[in-house]
Amino acid sequence: MAFFDRSLDFAENSTKLECFRYFDEKDKQYLDEQDFKRLIASLLNQNGDTLNESTIKELFVSFDSNADNKIDANEFENVWKNFLKPLKHPVTALLIIDVQNDFIDGSLALKNCSAKQDGYEVVPIINELIENIQFNVLVYSLDYHPEEHISFFDNIQLYELSNENEKSVGDLKLFDTVWFQGPPKMEQKLWPKHCIAGTWGSELHQDLKVPEDSVFIYKGTNPKIDSYSAFWDNMKLFKTELNDLLKQKNVTHVFVCGLAYDHCVTL
Ligand SMILES: [Zn+2]
Repeated sequence: MAFFDRSLDFAENSTKLECFRYFDEKDKQYLDEQDFKRLIASLLNQNGDTLNESTIKELFVSFDSNADNKIDANEFENVWKNFLKPLKHPVTALLIIDVQNDFIDGSLALKNCSAKQDGYEVVPIINELIENIQFNVLVYSLDYHPEEHISFFDNIQLYELSNENEKSVGDLKLFDTVWFQGPPKMEQKLWPKHCIAGTWGSELHQDLKVPEDSVFIYKGTNPKIDSYSAFWDNMKLFKTELNDLLKQKNVTHVFVCGLAYDHCVTL
């Protein structure tokens, strides 16, 4: 039986060693191109797929980091971790970005923006994904601001503007972009009040399915810095726990859906 046809525990270190030994013909302590070719064939035969010679060669070269035409045990670590394991033992996460009332029916509803998109349209689609696909990790991000957040037009008097701004405070309008003096000095679009922590506007839409064991990531909680990404604030000074969480759960594939792709789906 071909190596990858057997039932293998990819979480076990011993499986990695077994795999290396299996394809290391003549116990050379490295894989040459022929060994690697057999590994790829064994990997793909189950699906009936093929890879052409030049692609296999390209792969071999990319893993042979010291370019000695051998994939040694060290280099095989990379083959295992970044190629074989994700392919054969994928751990998936679905990130559901900001499907919150304020972006659907509230103060920053997408349907009032120029593209007139109805944010609600994503809700049944996301529900269907959650029902039909067994993701290993489900993450919901929430834009979650304190009342005095810097991104709110109404708070313009609370923070010092940089003297580089073309308009004076009195001439500024909703959705204008300004420079704040900081620190950190930064550019900021002025939004209507939205997603204030603990209010209806900040809640996920009531029709959105939220299975137990889901993870919630709150962003924009620092009053002085906005945060469009679920990973970092806009100045990349503070990160959320999302990156560590995905690593801790050994996630290999991340899928992203949700609202405000132009602003909030930023990695
Ligand atoms: Zn916001």
